[in-house]
Amino acid sequence: MEIFRTIEACRAARKQWGDETVALIPTMGALHHGHLSLIEMGKEKAQRIVVSIFVNPIQFRPNEDFTRYPRPVEDDLAMCRDLGIDGVFLPSVEEIYPDGRSDLTLVTPPDYLIRQLCGLSRPGHFEGVATVVLKLFNIIQPDIAIFGEKDAQQLAVIRQMVKDLNVPVSILSHPTVREESGLAVSSRNRYLKSREEWEAAKIVSSILLTVRQEANKSENVSPVAREALSSVAEKVLAQQNGLNELFQLEYLSAVDRTTFQPAETLHSNAKVLIAARVGDIRLIDNLDITDTPD
Ligand code: AMP
Repeated sequence: MEIFRTIEACRAARKQWGDETVALIPTMGALHHGHLSLIEMGKEKAQRIVVSIFVNPIQFRPNEDFTRYPRPVEDDLAMCRDLGIDGVFLPSVEEIYPDGRSDLTLVTPPDYLIRQLCGLSRPGHFEGVATVVLKLFNIIQPDIAIFGEKDAQQLAVIRQMVKDLNVPVSILSHPTVREESGLAVSSRNRYLKSREEWEAAKIVSSILLTVRQEANKSENVSPVAREALSSVAEKVLAQQNGLNELFQLEYLSAVDRTTFQPAETLHSNAKVLIAARVGDIRLIDNLDITDTPD
C-alpha cells in the first residue's frame, strides 16, 4: 500500500494506473466499520482503491471540534493495509491549502440544499465539504467515489455539485452501518463518556424508528410531517427515565428523498433526518420511511 502525502505523488500513481478504474473513499480518519464497508464496496466496483484521510479545517466552525477531532493515524493505516487497498492520501493542511484557508475559491451549493438541517447550525460547513471534495476529485481523479448515507445532506450536496459542475465521477452511496443497538457508527462516538451517554445516544435511532412505525401505521393518508415528528419526539423522550436530560434535540425534519425539499407529509418517498447533542457530541442520523424494518 502506498501512502501519498503530496498531490504530485497521487497524480503520478493515477498516471501509472492508466485505464484501470479507481474508486475514492474520502474520510476524515478514525476509521470504523462504517468506513470499512465503504472500502469493501469500492473493492467490488473498482480495480484500484484510494482512501483519503484529511480532517478538513474549512468545514469546521471556530467553535467546533476541529482540533480535538480524533486522529489515530497509525491505526487507520494498519486497517487500510489489512484491507489491501492501493493507496492512502494523507496530506497536510498546507498541502491542500497552500495559500491559507481564507480568500479561497469555494464551491457554493444551492441554497435549497444548505439553508436547512445541518446547514442552519453549521453555516459554511457544506461550502467547506463541497470544496474539499472537488479538490480531492481533481487530485485523485477517481472514476467512482463512495459516500455514506448516514451523512444524507452531504451526499445530496455532492451529487448536486457533480451534476451542476459536470464532474466526471460516479457517486455511489452505502447504507448506514449501525451498532447492534441501532446507533449509527461514527468517529465521534468514541467521545461518549459514560454508559448513560451511550444509552442517551440510542435515542437518536429510536426516534427515527418510531417515526417510521407511526408513518407506516396509516396506510392511506400520510401523516402531516411537522405534527407527527414533534409528537414522536415528545413520546420517545418521555419514556427515557432521566436520560433525556443528557439529550438535546437540534432538529427532526423530513425531506423528499429525491428532491431534498422539505416534505409536508411522511409519504413513502420521505426521508427523516435528525441531529442531537449528547454531552459534548453532536450526532446525526436519518432513515427512509420505506426502509424495511429490522
Ligand atoms: P467521515 O470520516 O465521518 O467524514 O466519513 C467518511 C465517509 O464515511 C462519509 O461518506 C460518511 O458518510 C461515511 N460514513 C461515516 N459513518 C458511516 C456509517 N455509520 N455508515 C456508513 N457510512 C458512514
